Amino acid sequence: KHSIVLFTSDLRLHDNPVLRAACDEAERVVPLFVLDDDIRAAGFDVPNRRAFLADCLADLDSELRARGGRLVLRQGHVTEQVRSVAAEVDAPRVHIAAGVSWYADRREESLRAALAADGRELCVHDAVVTAVPPGAVTPQGRDHFAVFTPYFRRWAAETPRRTARAPRVVRVPDGVRSAKPPARSAIPGVSTGLALGGERNGRRRFHSWLREGIDDYAERHDDLGADATSRLSPHLHFGTLSATELVERARGRGGAGAEAFVRQLAWRDFHHQVLAARPEAARRDYRGHGDRWRHDEREATAWREGRTGYPLIDAAMRQLRHEGWMHNRARLLVASFLTKTLYLDWRLGARHFLDWLVDGDIANNQLNWQWAAGTGTDTRPNRVLNPLTQARRFDPDGAYVRRWVPELAQLSGRSAHSPWKLAARDRAQLDYPEPIVELASGLGRFRTARGLD
Ligand code: FAD
Repeated sequence: KHSIVLFTSDLRLHDNPVLRAACDEAERVVPLFVLDDDIRAAGFDVPNRRAFLADCLADLDSELRARGGRLVLRQGHVTEQVRSVAAEVDAPRVHIAAGVSWYADRREESLRAALAADGRELCVHDAVVTAVPPGAVTPQGRDHFAVFTPYFRRWAAETPRRTARAPRVVRVPDGVRSAKPPARSAIPGVSTGLALGGERNGRRRFHSWLREGIDDYAERHDDLGADATSRLSPHLHFGTLSATELVERARGRGGAGAEAFVRQLAWRDFHHQVLAARPEAARRDYRGHGDRWRHDEREATAWREGRTGYPLIDAAMRQLRHEGWMHNRARLLVASFLTKTLYLDWRLGARHFLDWLVDGDIANNQLNWQWAAGTGTDTRPNRVLNPLTQARRFDPDGAYVRRWVPELAQLSGRSAHSPWKLAARDRAQLDYPEPIVELASGLGRFRTARGLD
């Protein structure tokens, strides 16, 4: 008998319980990935993630070939494709990782029903995408934690362990047809500084992070100029690295840096368990304040293009376009600026992030946006981050601004943060906009709307 592994957010051979289960139960397995029409129709299949995915699929295929197998790729509606492959090889079971989004729930339901109609079974595996599965720790009488600190206390007491070694041999049944894999080079609109995908690149990055980065993480993770975070987020999003393995190895390393890093991985699990319990929070306020967001296309465009006249905000928005990635401190800042200074709807910002981020992820993106907008799980929903104060703290010498805003590259030190303070003659020489809004009046909009004054 043959088995099928449907790869989704777990594009790896190491520590992959889904692949392991299929290899353990059958002589031959079909490692299957479907380029799903529904993801494309939902607008989720954007150039940066498509390019990173192309790397991941190419790498998965080559790693499988090194073990005697190959990746089977199909394109179309996921349920139809899986059903047809299962019928072709007469597989009694299809294995898949449990997901947390509304889309993943629908996919699971539809696959289960279609396979059952043919007398086949869908096996769903937990703890593949997150280190601690959603619902594994809950407060008394509730289905999820809405506050991070008590969640983290319980999460930290769990000891997720790697269960699955990469299989040595993968045998695929003969004659299963595969679509042509997408090539990164043929995808238009990709950010020029986009990172490379694939499990091998992910593991390389993780190993060098353990050797060279993690020990300083506690002190340096908020320093925008230092750029000293792991940049593992796209690998976690596509599952080229296992969150469980990261937690286990970082704990093994020990020290303040590793502890702080593990705490961030817990944030990831936290948002996943919120979304699993409240899938509608991807679109609707988790905890609304009745905000009636402003509409201002000119301001929204200036924000998207990194031309707000606030250097730190603009640097961050340009990094996003250039790399398909943005530093966490910068994400917090631009999200606060959009929702609490411009007072524009968080959904507009979340959409723009999803259009560009290589790690763009429904759980992490939508719920961090809600957190920053004060409509989510933040326990201080009315806190506003001031870009000038933040600049002094997290980019004290202006290095981050000079890296991403070439118009200001000539300004020295922290003067890069406030070009409006330059002498009129010097200011006139810069091709850089005036601030689109005064911070005080922007803040006024927010405070009035939330009834804080
Ligand atoms: P590190 O600092 O090295 O952290 C290690 C890992 O921990 C990250 O790779 C990530 O998986 C996890 N992590 C860290 N911070 C968070 C957090 N606040 N929430 C959830 N997980 C976290 N992260 C995404 O993966 N996808 C998104 O679409 C996304 N959108 C965001 C939108 C906003 C408005 C904000 C404020 C944050 C968002 N984040 C998102 C969280 C965070 O900014 C990124 O995970 C982080 O910047 C990735 O860089 P890194 O891998 O170097 O992180």
